[in-house]
Amino acid sequence: MIIHQAVFLLLASLSAWLFCSTVFKRFTAVKIKGNMPKVGNIPRGIWRVFKEVILQSRVIKDRPLVGIMHALVMWGFFVFTWVTAEHVWVGFFSPQNLNQIEHGWYGAFAAFWAILVLTGILELSFRRFVLQPKYLGKVSPTSALIAMFIVVLMTSYLFSWSEWTKNTTALYLNWWIHTLSLFGMLIVIPKSKHLHLILAPLAIMFRGDTTSKMRALDIENEDFGMIKFSDLLPKDILDINACVECGRCTEVCPANISGGTLNPKSVILNMQKGFLAGGNIIAGTDQEVSRHDAWVSENDLFQCLSCGACEQACPVGIEHVGGKILDLRRGLASEERIEDEKTTKLYFVMEKAPHNPWGIGQDMRRKFVKKEKLPIFDGSQEWLFWLGCGLSYDSHGQKVAVAMREVLNAGNISWGVFENETCCGEPARRIGNEGLYLELSQKLIDKFKQNKVKKIISCCPHCTTMLDNDYRQIPEYEPLGIKVVHHSELIAKIIPDLNLEFDFGEITYHDPCYLARGRNVVSAPRMILETCGLDIKEMEHFGHDTFCCGAGGGQMFIADDKKMDGSSRVNHLRFQEAQNTKVNAIAVACPYCPIMLQDAANHVERTDIKIWDIAEIVSARLKPRQKEAEKEDAMGNRQEEVIVRGGVKFHRHTNGGGLVAETAQVAPSVHVAPLAIIFGEAQLSENVQVTGRAQVGGSVVASDEIVFGGSVIVTEGEYRGKKIVYKK
Ligand code: SF4
Ligand code: SF4
Repeated sequence: MIIHQAVFLLLASLSAWLFCSTVFKRFTAVKIKGNMPKVGNIPRGIWRVFKEVILQSRVIKDRPLVGIMHALVMWGFFVFTWVTAEHVWVGFFSPQNLNQIEHGWYGAFAAFWAILVLTGILELSFRRFVLQPKYLGKVSPTSALIAMFIVVLMTSYLFSWSEWTKNTTALYLNWWIHTLSLFGMLIVIPKSKHLHLILAPLAIMFRGDTTSKMRALDIENEDFGMIKFSDLLPKDILDINACVECGRCTEVCPANISGGTLNPKSVILNMQKGFLAGGNIIAGTDQEVSRHDAWVSENDLFQCLSCGACEQACPVGIEHVGGKILDLRRGLASEERIEDEKTTKLYFVMEKAPHNPWGIGQDMRRKFVKKEKLPIFDGSQEWLFWLGCGLSYDSHGQKVAVAMREVLNAGNISWGVFENETCCGEPARRIGNEGLYLELSQKLIDKFKQNKVKKIISCCPHCTTMLDNDYRQIPEYEPLGIKVVHHSELIAKIIPDLNLEFDFGEITYHDPCYLARGRNVVSAPRMILETCGLDIKEMEHFGHDTFCCGAGGGQMFIADDKKMDGSSRVNHLRFQEAQNTKVNAIAVACPYCPIMLQDAANHVERTDIKIWDIAEIVSARLKPRQKEAEKEDAMGNRQEEVIVRGGVKFHRHTNGGGLVAETAQVAPSVHVAPLAIIFGEAQLSENVQVTGRAQVGGSVVASDEIVFGGSVIVTEGEYRGKKIVYKK
């Protein structure tokens, strides 16, 4: 027994020491500087870890079968924690009881889980080693080893639990096989992607709340962006060590899908390789990368659209964009090592007054503001309508500005625009020119201060992100207490008070990445379109899973337009998705998207497909006051029209405010749009969804399977046989 204990102790100590020293090496290959980022909202961070680690929500969402199999293995780890603790205890302190099997309920429970873990690991291994999907990349030998250890651990447990033999030597041998697999796994884990078992919860906890978020540079301490491995911050080191090589990031990357060489998974893994190999410089030319003088190609970095799809797909909380790709662009720019001609040309254009990426003079903007009688902001108005370069210089953008004028006036909003505006610095920061961004932002902050700006509305998700996120990293900006909203958010608030001429039809809506993923705004634009009477036909990628139009991350100005093959350009791929919906109208909520989509439409000669900003759609439906007056009778009462839509007979009141129904008969599987108000007697059948600001009152009889979401109020009626008096 003493020999047994000595050998056990020796092996346990050796594997524990190898585990700790490898983990230590993986984190101290360079001197770590800086601190972990603050978790903005701790309860939200804990909830995120619970959802994504414990419940495996991200893993299951995109690849359900694989995700469930992975979840079985991971939950098995939790179940076997107790079994393993007991195993180690017996090995150390009670070797005479090695073959005494736990036959209580927990033993049976663990045996059941062992079968589930075996099912999971065998399915995952079959996929990884036999099917070998492209996005998983090369088969890694350590993955095979870990899979083998898990299989041995589970089968050896099942053997001992089922008392398959009374032969004590065989049982003793089985015990040692289990033990050696356990120690073997402990040694291999930190040398493999399975280190994510420990790192993923941390990376998820410390992940930012939005995608593609860039950090503030510490210029005073000569921090000009990410250049060397010694510039990595703790979260970056966590990220590059946590990758599970699943390829989900690359699978959703529009730059990669459209035939580019950018591969976000490779960016992370190459950084990991360089870091562990003691590399110095992170990014460089293709030649430098092939010589291992650098590890990530500059050419790849400048293909990124900063759409954030990779970060959203990553199951272990890795931040590829703001914290790596865009930071490396800043590092390259600060050392003047950028070779891409278009990027250097854009620097040149933007560095000259009036600093906009189109390089057009302020005169044109001033003329436009004057011609369209846009009121000038003088500090007395509630809102500054920030035009940004898109609405100032692009011809379609200017139409959107005029449409917004109508919408804001109709909503009795007090607003004005700056007579002169410079760029907010968005393209400059995204393509690495931090110096120019800081210069432009400082000028603007002074202007906001002088003009006592308190609220800003912008039609551009890129400007909105700058003014509401990036600028907040500048100490002088935050005390100004400026509220920033995207126009979809403001219009969604005021639309109930607008008098709209409903115009029914079908439309598809393209979610801008910086709005949907970056700002989490997906329902407001849809609610606006539905309130205008439009039925939305969704594209293959929509909402938070949207697909970039091809303009983000400065690509609007630096994209490689030599790629003339339609299938290999991001905007063409997105336009194809719009065409697949078979509707001839696309709604957008960003000035860049219509430019990119129109370019793709022209390429395939689909000029019949119209592209409208949501502001244009609302503005086109605003009722002329004259017409409105005609609809009132002598008593001042509004007339009603009857509309049948999606199986609902709506009595629409002409005083606006959405769809109003009396005595509604709602057919099965109908989605009652936001702002619908059903009063009087409503009979709701199965599978009806009432969402948003719907109100169901009067005598309501609601059958089973009805989903009430948003701020629905059911004032009176019956639901699942129970009387409803008031429910919110
Ligand atoms: S941000 Fe978008 S384009 Fe850039 S690497 Fe991620 S998925 Fe690819
Ligand atoms: S970075 Fe994330 S999504 Fe990409 S391969 Fe690694 S773990 Fe998977």
